[in-house]
Amino acid sequence: MNLFLATKNQGKVRELNSLFAGTGIEFTSAADVMGTVAEDGDTYYKNAYAKAMAVYEQRPNPVVAEDSGLEVDALDGSPGVFSARFASDVDGVNASDEDNVNALMDFMQDIPAPNRTARFVSVFCFIMGGKSLFFEGEVAGSITTEPMGSAGFGYDPVFVPAGYDKTFAELGSDVKNRISHRAMAVIKLRDYLLTIDGKGKK
Ligand code: IMP
Repeated sequence: MNLFLATKNQGKVRELNSLFAGTGIEFTSAADVMGTVAEDGDTYYKNAYAKAMAVYEQRPNPVVAEDSGLEVDALDGSPGVFSARFASDVDGVNASDEDNVNALMDFMQDIPAPNRTARFVSVFCFIMGGKSLFFEGEVAGSITTEPMGSAGFGYDPVFVPAGYDKTFAELGSDVKNRISHRAMAVIKLRDYLLTIDGKGKK
């Protein structure tokens, strides 16, 4: 089964295809058909739906979109749905990963280790035959005081998953793809996709 993936983030395309390796399900980036999508929803669900719908309206084939973010307890759940734009001065425009990480380090410079808890959250929206379904996953962890490691993307260099003493960027994709928020959501999505027939019925 070949599905569109409504994202412009090549990191996500790579990660998803590696998470689905061996299942017969493959994702093709739909970056060229989705145009500019306003990710202005106040939930991951609304943003994931908006991205999937932007592609589905152009090409009514099965499509998957994901919205995700980092929620830091000491910042009352920020940056959350604004994770990609945390350091941006321009409304709706993403900042670079490096700027976002630096902004987070600045905001958290006085926060002591026990209070640096956080989680990554991932929500997938799958649209097929006009019907939309959602799959959510999360991973708990904490935020370091400086970036460490070079694998992955986004906030990976400053996020240490619970039970580990290295960041996602140090642990690398093998470990990340087993325990991440995206992996948890993908297991639910994959189980669903593997049980449906060509019409989207169980
Ligand atoms: P979006 O889901 O593409 O709107 O963006 C989510 C943003 O959250 C990314 O640009 C990253 O900043 C952050 N993020 C989401 N998932 C991850 C991850 O697995 N590692 C690091 N950062 C992430």
